[in-house]
Amino acid sequence: MSILGTDQRPLRVAIVGAGPAGFYVAEVLFKHDLNIKVDMFEKLPAPFGLVRYGVAPDHEKIKNVIKIYEKTASHPQFSFFGHVNVGVDISVLELRRFYDATIFCYGAELDKHLGIEGEGLKGSHTATEFVGWYNGHPRFRDQVFDLQCEAAVVVGQGNVAMDVARILCSTADELSKTDICQHALDVLAKSRIKEVHVYGRRGPVQAAFTPLEIREMGQLSNAYPVVDPKDLELNQASLLELEGAADAVRKKNLEILRSFTNVPPNSSRRKFVLHFKRSPVQIIGKNQVEKVKFEINELTGEPHQQSVKGTGQFEDIECGVFFTSIGYAGVPMQGLPFSPKGIVPNDHGRILADGKAIQGSYVSGWIQHGASGVIGTNKIVAEETVGSLMKDLAQLAPCEAPSTEEVVKLLKSRSIELITFIDWKKIDAYEIMIGLRCGKPREKITRVSQMIFIARDP
Ligand code: FAD
Ligand code: NAP
Repeated sequence: MSILGTDQRPLRVAIVGAGPAGFYVAEVLFKHDLNIKVDMFEKLPAPFGLVRYGVAPDHEKIKNVIKIYEKTASHPQFSFFGHVNVGVDISVLELRRFYDATIFCYGAELDKHLGIEGEGLKGSHTATEFVGWYNGHPRFRDQVFDLQCEAAVVVGQGNVAMDVARILCSTADELSKTDICQHALDVLAKSRIKEVHVYGRRGPVQAAFTPLEIREMGQLSNAYPVVDPKDLELNQASLLELEGAADAVRKKNLEILRSFTNVPPNSSRRKFVLHFKRSPVQIIGKNQVEKVKFEINELTGEPHQQSVKGTGQFEDIECGVFFTSIGYAGVPMQGLPFSPKGIVPNDHGRILADGKAIQGSYVSGWIQHGASGVIGTNKIVAEETVGSLMKDLAQLAPCEAPSTEEVVKLLKSRSIELITFIDWKKIDAYEIMIGLRCGKPREKITRVSQMIFIARDP
């Protein structure tokens, strides 16, 4: 039997990343009848990953999941070390010296690009930049979005594209009651956008959004949905895709899209238009986005594996602002293997190098399986990863230096301004207090230096 996990020698686990994956991994670890010490490292001063910096401000209820993470953080064997960039401030090798196991849960931060001409033009953005900006991510705080044009184009038909479109269609009054950052609200309040066009390269049956999110687009106070009935005509393979019991979501989506074809125009509201079977081929403009050229596609292939084939027919749409929302990939971390799929290669959460498991190294969340799935999906994945660790426990070699004090000493010697969970709660309380003054759930602090200042303020 392993000595690790006993009162004489607690199992020491480092978790890298304080998003849903990291917190679920900690929660699942603490459910085991073992003595486990968990230290969580997060590169930002604030925990909760995309729950704080991704989830849309008007989806406040979803953020209630933070209460569960706070419960985990209150466990006596849990420590949070915010503002520590693993791979930069402390290496993967160093973590191995201090921990018996390290579980990497650092998400998938890289936004995918289309690789077409004009993507670098002024007015062309990724959803990551826009979402990060309105949600106060320090990296995107100073992005500039000019919304003084009449039409916006969004490419991609996942739920992130729906978030982007919904925020662009919402009124300042609606947004002002959310935790959207004031700098973003100021710009959105002056928006002159009248039309938001969302493009998918495949058909309505293949769209990645889910019924709740697409239905919401038909219930906005200041926008109405538009779908061309011709776009909802289906080929044989798409009809077959609707037949399986697992395809209920697609069927529901189609039903909602069909209901959008009957919505009467309303010139006093913004127009939310969905387009299908169109791939962007060029963003056109002198210095600034002026229009986007799309090729019209046909679907080809077997049901559930349909891809697109260009028809050689093209159409343009005029717009002043353009967003790509076509998914995310992980970034390589110094000291860890990396797969071209944008994840850390693994077998049930065990990190693999040249096909062999690296002793004591695990991965969970988006960096394990790719950027798909909702918050709760990460709980299922966490159970799998922790399950693998528990199976390996008897073979795990104890680390060389089992001491959190030593880790803290090392980081301090590197002048890292550590943010503990108590520090974070000070920042949290400050944000809530500032928010209350203007009727919002919170006003986020968007500068790392200011967060540290608040945390240090006696
Ligand atoms: P993340 O949430 O990205 O957490 C990773 C953490 O690791 C981050 O805090 C990051 O700062 C940290 N990190 C990165 N690199 C390092 C490093 N080198 N050192 C230390 N820390 C590091 N799901 C829903 O159910 N509902 C929604 O409404 C919803 N909205 C979404 C909106 C957007 C824009 C996006 C992109 C996703 C949304 N999702 C939503 C999906 C959900 O957010 C993800 O399933 C979930 O966040 C993935 O968890 P994760 O912990 O793997 O990654
Ligand atoms: P996603 O669901 O994978 O959607 C990506 C979209 O981009 C798809 O429509 C995809 O079309 C399209 N796309 C990819 N490459 C393209 C290209 N080269 N050209 C044109 N289109 C391209 O990704 P996401 O929207 O970023 O969401 C990530 C995950 O977070 C999802 O699981 C999502 O459900 C979740 N999320 C949930 C919520 C919520 O629950 N409210 C909110 C936000 C995000 P193809 O299918 O043709 O590839």
